Amino acid sequence: MKIAVTNLGEIVSGHWRDPLVSGDTIVTDNGRIVSVGTAAAAAVEAADVVIDADGMTAIPGLIDSHVHVTFGDYTPRQRTVGYLESYVHGGVTTSISASEVHVPGRPRDVEGVKALALAAQRCFADYRPGGMRVIAGSVILEPGLTKDDFTELAGKGVTLAKAGFGAVKTAYDYVPMVADAKAAGLITTCHTGGSSIPGSGAITGDHLLKMHPHVSFHINGGPTAMPDADFERVIRESEMALQICTAGNLRTALLCARLAVQHGAFDRLIIATDTPTGSGVMPLGMLYTIAHLASLNGVPAEQFICAATGNNASVYKLDSGFLEAGRAADIVLLDAPDGGTQSTARNAIQHGDIAAIGAVISAGIPRFVGRSRNTPATRRRARVVRSNVMQDFAATAH
Ligand SMILES: [Zn+2]
Repeated sequence: MKIAVTNLGEIVSGHWRDPLVSGDTIVTDNGRIVSVGTAAAAAVEAADVVIDADGMTAIPGLIDSHVHVTFGDYTPRQRTVGYLESYVHGGVTTSISASEVHVPGRPRDVEGVKALALAAQRCFADYRPGGMRVIAGSVILEPGLTKDDFTELAGKGVTLAKAGFGAVKTAYDYVPMVADAKAAGLITTCHTGGSSIPGSGAITGDHLLKMHPHVSFHINGGPTAMPDADFERVIRESEMALQICTAGNLRTALLCARLAVQHGAFDRLIIATDTPTGSGVMPLGMLYTIAHLASLNGVPAEQFICAATGNNASVYKLDSGFLEAGRAADIVLLDAPDGGTQSTARNAIQHGDIAAIGAVISAGIPRFVGRSRNTPATRRRARVVRSNVMQDFAATAH
């Protein structure tokens, strides 16, 4: 399928240093972006589906790098079916597993955690609920896992490892396991802050600095934050990605973002929700956190859109997250909400409002055009002006 999105008002690239692209058109072909900005009339003419954006803003599909997936589109923690499909209506086109710890009765032995990670990776390899791409299969670090185990998993397609929920005596026991997982090529992540599971201790700056995982999960607390003084240490003394989550401490989220800007570490700032958890299912979590960080810290909204897209893609080595030729065709049309005081998506976010979504395209397929069933209505009206395919792109009625 070839798609042309025309009449765009603004285009956000996903690169926070150079966040805005001039032009008004994006063309995709067979799941990839072909051009961003301008397009020849013939390219638009050749499209199977032409979407008129009516002046809305295109951003890369949001990447939520902390989602508690289990199997299928079901969360046992909140007993909810269809939450991933609902997150697509919040502009999220990629969910990255925070490890499959919510699987009821999840295994804790070496063979069990390896099998769980591999099964989760396989179950989501081709399954896209509502169009959502899910990067699943994060091996939970348990004592006894060896370098050979990590090499075996990496060879079979598992890409992630998670420290924080294992039966260790102290969090320092993760240090050699994280090193082995990294050596095998896995992207390593670590719980940060007070424990969310009774019995496991807090993980704070010193643990993180000794472990040095690729990503400090919910650095602002999941949901309980580490000491304030540790934020600057982690930023200055490491290269770790700083993951700010919706279901965390808002004050330390603002503190961490401010310090990341101040210390030139914005490349490492990534946004996620840490849901579904006790905090619930939050389809608009990414949009809330983007709005909170931009409106309360006074940093341009487009920078935080990039933290939720391109920065996540760079840390997790994904082919999405940027609106540029060759990337996965994951595109969201954002707008100021109808009835608000602001006229564009960026202004609305800066103002603290939740942006409205007018269309979501993932893997080059329009998942809906017109109205998200979760956000407020858009100020403008995106519509399909020409289509050769047997699909009406309307969102499910609500
Ligand atoms: Zn979590």
